Amino acid sequence: MNTQTSKKRSGILAIMAVFMLSTTASCNQSNTNRTTNTEQSPQAQEAASTPSAQLEKTKIVTTFLPMYIFTKAVAGDVADVEILVKPGTEVHEYQATPENVKAIATANVLVKNGLGLEEFLKNTIKNAQNSQLSEIDASKGIKPLDEISPVEKIAKAEDHDHEHAEGNPHVWLDPVLAKQQVVNIRDGLITADPKNKQVYETNTATYIKELESLNNQFQQTLQKTPNCTFVTFHDAFPYLAKRYNLKQVAVVEIPEDQLSPTDLQKTINIVKKYKVKALFSEPGVDNKLLKSLSQDLKLTLSTLDSLETGETNPQYYFQAMKANLQTLETACK
Ligand SMILES: [Zn+2]
Repeated sequence: MNTQTSKKRSGILAIMAVFMLSTTASCNQSNTNRTTNTEQSPQAQEAASTPSAQLEKTKIVTTFLPMYIFTKAVAGDVADVEILVKPGTEVHEYQATPENVKAIATANVLVKNGLGLEEFLKNTIKNAQNSQLSEIDASKGIKPLDEISPVEKIAKAEDHDHEHAEGNPHVWLDPVLAKQQVVNIRDGLITADPKNKQVYETNTATYIKELESLNNQFQQTLQKTPNCTFVTFHDAFPYLAKRYNLKQVAVVEIPEDQLSPTDLQKTINIVKKYKVKALFSEPGVDNKLLKSLSQDLKLTLSTLDSLETGETNPQYYFQAMKANLQTLETACK
């Protein structure tokens, strides 16, 4: 297995090297490499600060991936959009860096998810001392669900260390609430940067259409399997479950070493009691404990993406959510 993957990897590396050579050769002609926009932004800032640059772009910092994606979808190219918590970094236990403070100090707008997710911002914003900063809370007006949402609580989940007194923050995983977040971001950007109102409105309308179509797909697919129950390891899906009549019945917090026999027995009982159909991990998580748990529970282990990490491209939301829908459809059959 391992040698196979490393072979694959080196194959990919080789392809990338060729690709990079060819883009270097043609980079005078086009500037289409959007994925490296965090590297481009210092240049963009430089351009914006030179007196000759007519278009001084609004600088927006966003907290983590879904906020970046939604903001980028609304702003397109008329503003500079940055991300504080880089993909691949765990948002729930995030510690701010000096770069984060610098980014906030020079920004016009900050977009956050809210609902207590971005604990790290409190001191960071204070330290940045930016009195011009306008903050957009993307969850404004959304009624939060309790943080610990499942029907049954496994001991581990009760004493876990999130401090989400404001409710469960994972609202972006419900396409309908995602739409509300996008609208909140649009309205905040129009207030902060009224000259680009038209662009923000047009871009938002397009993105909302896609969100509505995604919602329809979820609705049509999942109405065939009402009350499909699942167990997860990350309390990320209560809004999604509520929207589409699924049931997240338990959250098992996976410890470093092994699950206690009591927690294991509890989980097995829940699986029987609720006729649990699925056990969901997350992409990129390769945990022996999860595998042995799924064997103990006689359930297939599949992955649901919480979108806390992934590609920084507005279309990634739809890509990942459609993959989630496919996983749910298969698991709930
Ligand atoms: Zn989360």
